[in-house]
Amino acid sequence: MRIRRATKQITVGNERTGIVLIGGGIPSDGGDATTPAPISVQTMTAGYTHDIDRCVAEINRLKAAGADIVRVATPERKDTEALAEILNQTRVPIVADVHFHFERALEAVEAGVHKIRLNPGNIADRDQVNAVIDACKERGIPIRIGVNEGSIIERKDKQKRLDELGRFFSDKKDGHLIALMVTKLEEYLEIFRDRDFHDVCISAKLMDAASTIEVYRAISERFDEPLHLGVTHAGPKETGAIRSIAAMAALLADGIGDSFRISYASDPVHEVEDGLELLWSLGLRERKGVDLIACPTCGRIQVDLFTLVQDVRTKLADTIELPMKVAVMGCVVNGPGEAEGADVAVFAGDRRGIIYVQGEKVANVPEAEILERLLDECVTLQDRVRAGETKLGDKRVEIIPPDPIGELGSGFDRIASGQVEQATPLTITGAKPV
Ligand code: SF4
Repeated sequence: MRIRRATKQITVGNERTGIVLIGGGIPSDGGDATTPAPISVQTMTAGYTHDIDRCVAEINRLKAAGADIVRVATPERKDTEALAEILNQTRVPIVADVHFHFERALEAVEAGVHKIRLNPGNIADRDQVNAVIDACKERGIPIRIGVNEGSIIERKDKQKRLDELGRFFSDKKDGHLIALMVTKLEEYLEIFRDRDFHDVCISAKLMDAASTIEVYRAISERFDEPLHLGVTHAGPKETGAIRSIAAMAALLADGIGDSFRISYASDPVHEVEDGLELLWSLGLRERKGVDLIACPTCGRIQVDLFTLVQDVRTKLADTIELPMKVAVMGCVVNGPGEAEGADVAVFAGDRRGIIYVQGEKVANVPEAEILERLLDECVTLQDRVRAGETKLGDKRVEIIPPDPIGELGSGFDRIASGQVEQATPLTITGAKPV
């Protein structure tokens, strides 16, 4: 994992909604260097903004799922007219998404929205962009300058642009497009800098993971503004998850990105859940709730593990708030070793479940009782942690391997004597060495 790239920092929201900082590490004008803020998870409502009750319900559901910031579309006047009441009934920073009509941005600012998302490339003229900048400056509202693959190429000279830029980037997939997006962002940022407005973050979204990684690497080298990551139009969750997470994980592991949205053609709650899980998995945010480990199952399975895992996941999501590691393993052959780091673990076998809590065997129950007993043990452990009687991660399932374990041994002796360092890396024919 690389060190997080330093950027300027922007502030979204207020005391009422909770303040979300994006980016950090570079001093603001005349100020001290800020610590980079935790990477924030954003999403966008799927329903109409002017349908106030449904919009509020959706925003509150997304906030409950863990969204740090929620964006809403504001294509029509009736959408911005609904904003004041939506802001009144919600407690999470709201971003107004504006395309084509600069008036929507002005109306959203007037309603008290916490951030504007603008693509200056689809606003008719510069005076209109300036009007939005001035209104945001007066109210202290940040703007995300977002360019998207679909809107970036000027239609009238598309082929000319492709021919020109393609000459320089012909060896890279989508090289001409990436160059054009970087160029456009530079032009747009100039407009904001000309009006002494620096309260911005930037994004450049494409539909393809590899190109998304390329464009964000390029803009992170060139600009100091905080970066909002995303793959646009990633598709349904089943395939969009791979596409989005491939790009986000590569960038975040490289220290690039201050905020992101995983976008699916499905309920946006999944975007938030998967975004948080990604940050937790990379160790970039402190986990809230259970870290569930489960075996993939194989021919040794002795219980209906798929059902058990889903039931455990759903039930524990409702009851456990601490970052408890829970393992659900299908057998005692590899299960104990694979669950070694868990606070609570169950190993199934012969239609029964053997349950361990902090390394101690506490129960051996029939399959029908595994779920209830496991949940009870997790709740009891949570209560004991809250009462200060124990700590999570302190005493975990610890497996002592059989000794001797055969002629090959455990490998520890070879590591201790330094032989492992002398080992020659495995070379696979036809594969490139890493
Ligand atoms: S824990 Fe047991 S059942 Fe599960 S994958 Fe490993 S060997 Fe198979």
